Amino acid sequence: MSLTELQALEAEHVIPSYARYPVEMVRGEGTRLWDADGNEYLDFLSGISVLNVGHCHPAVVAAVREQVGRLTHVTNLFYTEPAMRLAQRLATSSLGGKVFFCNSGTEANEALLKLVRKAKPRGEIVVLHGGFHGRTYGSLSATTQESKQVPFAPLVPGFVPIQPTVAALEGVVSERTAAVLVEPIQGETGVHALSDEFLLAARAACDRVGAALVFDEVQTGMGRTGTLWAYEQTPVVPDALTSAKALGGGLPIGALVTGPRLADVFQPGDHGSTFAGGPLVAAAANAAFDVLEDPQLLARVRELGERLRERLRALPQLSNVRGRGLMVGFDVPEAPAVARRALLEQRLVVNATGPGTVRLLPPLTVGDAELDDAIGRIAAVV
Ligand SMILES: *Cc1c(COP(=O)(O)O)cnc(C)c1O
Repeated sequence: MSLTELQALEAEHVIPSYARYPVEMVRGEGTRLWDADGNEYLDFLSGISVLNVGHCHPAVVAAVREQVGRLTHVTNLFYTEPAMRLAQRLATSSLGGKVFFCNSGTEANEALLKLVRKAKPRGEIVVLHGGFHGRTYGSLSATTQESKQVPFAPLVPGFVPIQPTVAALEGVVSERTAAVLVEPIQGETGVHALSDEFLLAARAACDRVGAALVFDEVQTGMGRTGTLWAYEQTPVVPDALTSAKALGGGLPIGALVTGPRLADVFQPGDHGSTFAGGPLVAAAANAAFDVLEDPQLLARVRELGERLRERLRALPQLSNVRGRGLMVGFDVPEAPAVARRALLEQRLVVNATGPGTVRLLPPLTVGDAELDDAIGRIAAVV
């Protein structure tokens, strides 16, 4: 089928909730993608930080191939080894509590929202302007962006949006607060890291009133920022975090990970999901985990991130080059979609996020030459 035919099928049969790029992708390997005409792209978006291990990582492919012929699904009415092993790795690599599996980022946040409400009945949840937590009603209600929320009112009550300042935080956190929910680095609205000062104040305020400080690490987790979890590079430890995107090595899985205090809040019957943590996705996730927990890889992510930002800062047309590890944003003078389109023509896949920002999220396995090549293509366009 040609691209024109695919576009005709979309126009007639697909609910138009996406603005797709006019390209049909047919194959991926590492940092590279190929379209139906055989053009080769450098992928500096990684399916929005999903392919942290790169496209079709051989270990993930092998794990999926092995598992898909053995057992794909039994529901959580039974035990499977891939899920229990993954839970152990997630918990022990982070907050030391327990894990609830689901299928996506928004579902991980839904589980988190229910958990903190159950821990402090009827409690309010403090969230940040410009945050992004997903598209289902609970997560959407936590996503304080007018364009995303207004058409879908009424939302879930009990969310209190604030600007990410210490003064705003201290003005709203009270005995009624169940949780403060933040992304350590806001991803969908322009790659903005929260300040250490804000996070320390949030930790102290939550401790004072018995609320939970909880991190949405759906985008920042699984090595993206140069540590397995982004909170490791902040001065605080959250009471729970959510993961998804890169967790499954390209397959859909999400997880809520708690610290010890929130580990037993849910009891049988409180929450569930038919597919969650099935053996196939869990096998893929375990294979991706092997790659991403490697300290050498994580050190390289930090090093490459520094190099990438340094090289981008040398381009005078770009401003506010920022980020941590291989989660990078910069501002461009024209609309970022213009730069994004021009880069696509240079066969470099990136996306635009926030009002003037281009975001780079390459696979964490990106090669030195590929990084240099991408910087060259950006320099050629701007
Ligand atoms: C992508 C994202 C989500 C939503 O994840 P889905 O899998 O699309 O539901 C939630 N929070 C953050 C920070 C994200 O980047």
